[in-house]
Amino acid sequence: MTNDIDILVSEVGPRDGLQSIETVLPTAIKHRWIGAQASAGCREIEVGSFVPPKLLPQMSDTADVVRHALEIPELTVAVLVPNLRGAENAIAAGAHKISIPFSVSETHSLRNVRKNHEQMLAEVAKIAELVANVEPERRPHFEAGLSTAFGCTLEGAISEDLVVRSAERLIDCGVAEVGLSDTTGYANPSQVKRLVRKVKAAVGDDRLTGVHLHNTRGLGLANALAAIEEGITTVDSSLGGIGGCPFAPGASGNIVTEDLVFMLEAMGLRTGIDLDRLLSVRDILRQALPDEPLYGFTPDAGLPKDFNVAA
Ligand code: ZN
Repeated sequence: MTNDIDILVSEVGPRDGLQSIETVLPTAIKHRWIGAQASAGCREIEVGSFVPPKLLPQMSDTADVVRHALEIPELTVAVLVPNLRGAENAIAAGAHKISIPFSVSETHSLRNVRKNHEQMLAEVAKIAELVANVEPERRPHFEAGLSTAFGCTLEGAISEDLVVRSAERLIDCGVAEVGLSDTTGYANPSQVKRLVRKVKAAVGDDRLTGVHLHNTRGLGLANALAAIEEGITTVDSSLGGIGGCPFAPGASGNIVTEDLVFMLEAMGLRTGIDLDRLLSVRDILRQALPDEPLYGFTPDAGLPKDFNVAA
């Protein structure tokens, strides 16, 4: 990370947000959204995922979206991949960063991608090898997200030892970094602190720098702050908390980018993002997705008088 920001706010709306709503956002609107958000100062955007279009038609234009996003200066273009095939497509498109979700809950893994842990680790190792063979200037950063790390809707509580062991095994398979994902919105701040500390102790400080948290039960920002206090420097969020959570009507899915940036900047933690400009990016979504709720307290309340975005 460049040293003019303290926390990297990684926008995941175009992927996590859009994949969980039915409407297929036209490619041109995705380009506009990503461009506008990068202009507001966002340095990293997860622009899509390389999944079979039959499964997620919302993501079928990801290669195109990646190529377009690569023209934006100083933007890290991230994508999600479920498997080796997806990674091949991501590398062909030229993505800067690729992440693969690894469900710590094996039941969730079997249900979602029909692979057990051993099969997933074998897949990750193959991708790591593929990545290692890409010429250095084009080689993407390869990361594995430990999903359901804080609890699973199918298995319930997830053993912290299993999370730590999974992190170690993923690093052994060749990923550059692991991340912690609260897929189900079960996490609480004490748990976040404990787990970040344990995983960092096991794999090293620089191999866990990011968290992906959901706001399903309203604890998203509290969990983000807990993670930051343990040294986390990248926090995922989505504009307008877009995507929602099908299990909790009225609750946003991801942390709302606008509220996260407000909290960080108000605390004096630099994000590089201009909040006024960020707030105006919502208009693009409001027009394109009139039936989707946009969440966020800061957009509703406005910025405090004399609020000073750290220059
Ligand atoms: Zn998510």
